[in-house]
Amino acid sequence: MDKKEQKNVSYFTLDESTVFEKVQSSEKGLTSAEAKKRIAEYGPNQLDEGKSKSLLMKFIEQFKDFMIIVLLAAAVISGIFGDLTDSIIILVVVVLNAVLGVFQEAKAEEAINALREMSSPEARVKRDGTVVSLKSDQLVIGDVVLLEAGNIVPADLRLIEVASLQIEESGLTGESVPVNKELTVLEDEKAGIGDRTNMAYMNSNVTYGRGEGVVVGTGMNTEVGEIAQMLASTDDTMTPLQNNLNRLGKYLTVAILIIAVVIFVVGLSNGRGWLDMLLTSISLAVAAIPEGLPAIVTIILALGTQKMAKRKALVRKLPAVETLGSTDIICSDKTGTLTMNKMTVEKMYVNGQLQDSSDSIDTNSPVLRSMMYANDTQISGDGTLIGDPTETALIQFALDKEINVSDVLAKEPRVAEIPFDSERKLMTTIHKQADGKFLVAVKGAPDELLKRCTSYGENNEVKPLDENVKQTILETNHELATQALRVLATAYKLIDTVPPEVKSENVEQDLIFSGLIGMIDPEREEAKEAVLVARQAGIRSVMITGDHRDTAEAIARRLGILEESQVGGVITGAELDEISDEDFSTKVKDYSVYARVSPQHKVRIVKAWQKAGKIVAMTGDGVNDAPALKTADIGIGMGITGTEVSKGASDMVLADDNFSTIVVAVEEGRKVFSNIQKSIQYLLSANLGEVLTLFIATLFGWSILAPVHILWINLVTDTFPAIALGLEPAEADSMKQKPRGKEATFFSNGVLGSIIYQGIFEGGITLFVYWWATNNPVHAENSELIHSDALTMAFVTLGMLQLFHAFNVKSVDKSLFTVGFFKNKLFNLSILVSGSLLAIVVLVPGLNDAFRVSHLDPQQWMLTVGAAFSIIPMVEIVKFGIRTFKKNKK
Ligand code: ATP
Repeated sequence: MDKKEQKNVSYFTLDESTVFEKVQSSEKGLTSAEAKKRIAEYGPNQLDEGKSKSLLMKFIEQFKDFMIIVLLAAAVISGIFGDLTDSIIILVVVVLNAVLGVFQEAKAEEAINALREMSSPEARVKRDGTVVSLKSDQLVIGDVVLLEAGNIVPADLRLIEVASLQIEESGLTGESVPVNKELTVLEDEKAGIGDRTNMAYMNSNVTYGRGEGVVVGTGMNTEVGEIAQMLASTDDTMTPLQNNLNRLGKYLTVAILIIAVVIFVVGLSNGRGWLDMLLTSISLAVAAIPEGLPAIVTIILALGTQKMAKRKALVRKLPAVETLGSTDIICSDKTGTLTMNKMTVEKMYVNGQLQDSSDSIDTNSPVLRSMMYANDTQISGDGTLIGDPTETALIQFALDKEINVSDVLAKEPRVAEIPFDSERKLMTTIHKQADGKFLVAVKGAPDELLKRCTSYGENNEVKPLDENVKQTILETNHELATQALRVLATAYKLIDTVPPEVKSENVEQDLIFSGLIGMIDPEREEAKEAVLVARQAGIRSVMITGDHRDTAEAIARRLGILEESQVGGVITGAELDEISDEDFSTKVKDYSVYARVSPQHKVRIVKAWQKAGKIVAMTGDGVNDAPALKTADIGIGMGITGTEVSKGASDMVLADDNFSTIVVAVEEGRKVFSNIQKSIQYLLSANLGEVLTLFIATLFGWSILAPVHILWINLVTDTFPAIALGLEPAEADSMKQKPRGKEATFFSNGVLGSIIYQGIFEGGITLFVYWWATNNPVHAENSELIHSDALTMAFVTLGMLQLFHAFNVKSVDKSLFTVGFFKNKLFNLSILVSGSLLAIVVLVPGLNDAFRVSHLDPQQWMLTVGAAFSIIPMVEIVKFGIRTFKKNKK
């Protein structure tokens, strides 16, 4: 069956065996060999993200730029009427420029593709009879895929097995309530996507339960593929910063074009030739319009993501790099991110006694049974425990007491269960006993569990749970929790029959309380440091946890999220429910710890901070965290423990689940932003210098730089140093500054002022050198030589000046002696390369003729290089002034 036919089959109306027949597969799935064959035939399971252009196309596109076309036209005219050499050089420069443009674009595209590659999710598939984990783009029609809560459906599937499976398909149907999936074959061929309950569609989210399905559609032949095709995929990978840059580019273009016209007119009225002036003003326009800026910014952002990836922060969306640097608030889950998620039982409360974990305990006690029964830990062949750390800790405890856990479990097998969820905060299992009765074993959050207990067990006696006993238990819970212990309670009851529908309402009632267990989950040392670093950087760390208020508070104090002397600052989910959204947005600043919250509280917390004008980062790992991750300015997923759905909703994923990695990423984000500012400052001050030089020279009637000179300077000094500035190390105080705030632009923090005064310096020095050389000629006898020397010196000065100036740009106000001259190797190299390319056209015989520059003698070289270098001390003096001013203002 070919692709087209495949697509037109209504699999939801076919029974399972017909489906397998159609896709030539079976419940066992495919063999690797068959899958390989099919992938060759159908292609990988991915959505086309717009065809990537060929290198040649990209090259040709460089000439689509209006100004370039004008320049080429002018060069041709000039070739016909005037000097052919000039025209050829202009052509060569334009071609070289286009090559650089292609290189930049390709680099930027490569980076974006790498991000996409990284975010492709994994799928669990039956191949060769076993279950393997694969990148989901490797799926083919006929593969049998396993689904569980938290997965993103990797292809279009016809379901063949479901266990309470619920899937949220809002991307396709707009309906955000998850759909219950069943296996019933549908009769209506025309059933809408939302009604096809035996299908699971690519990119929808599994929110509950488990299931299995056979792939019936991949890549563009899926329902989302269809939508993607319809939307003609205008994949907007522009970041806000790039959009701003494009807007800025437009303004600058207009301004520069006006100046170019003025220069043209003034030149003509000064008696210069029209062709000469035409070429000069067009070359200036080409040189001064920063058309490469957006690509340079993309490259810098992309380089930033690579650095972050090395430091375990995997950025999934490019704009995140830029937003990260402006983070005001980091909201983080406690368990696993701020703590190690390595639990150990420390204390027990049984039979009314608080005891250490090392004390002896009756191996038949109900506490122990609940601990082992209501537990999903798997004991593998070599004895290692696999499962949730809270639960493995309980099994480890039993093993340490020399209980043969596997034997005990085998004797009283589990017949039903109500899984743990973070709303209920309980887990229950039902076990068949030898006497025919059933044991209900429960464990969970003490406050929740006690609500469902009516009696308690003490020394094998069951007594009614009165208020006094309840109070004692809650006090013990408080005592344990304030020692930063995570406390679980256990309970049980015996029932004669298992209800037909096992639900919390009919099972988790009238329980017998049996004990408390206190577990330590040590805080991460590095998280403690990170909280401090964040605080110094003006960033507030906020802890969000499902754990008990007292445990949360104790851990928050240890981590420094709550300061020693601080009172209050902690709120529970129940208390939060009492506060209106309106009130909460004014009170949100009062709280650093949220305890006993459910995932939906996270959305409220994010929104409240955003309403208070803050940029919020939020972590999350479960399916239910996805809305909060999407709402946050930076959604942060967990690489190790996170579900696919939560990762899919994130902007960044932590490879190590570690809070301190968030702070590292913020630091990188700040660095990237400031480096982009440096590039912009470098490019725009240079462009301003060029414009001023030509504008004033034209006013004075000087013909200071020929078109080829302007274009050459632009070609060799712009790209390399600007990109290399993107790799500058962070300035030492970058994490001592306050967050830059929502309003900040790339002109903030003195950048605009720097561009202006430094541009004036550049223009001034170049003009001075030209003036000086004209009035103090070395070759006094010949006016043509005098002019040629002065022009050459101005050319070299302007070029070198920009390269020296690149050093100044390393900091807006710090001295180069503080920042360091040569720390950035690539930068040094770029300056060397650019400097050499500049010098070559003056030094190489023949080439200098073509560029119409004269041979400079040592004295002239010294003067030129000296003048160019003077931009460093000049800017140093201004920086000193800025620093003094700032200090006095404080
Ligand atoms: P965080 O939100 O920081 O990850 P958490 O892991 O404590 O914190 P949840 O997993 O939602 O948050 O747990 C909430 C509460 O439910 C815990 O404080 C504990 O009392 C109880 N609990 C946690 N895991 C289990 C489990 N496997 N079985 C029964 N109860 C549990």
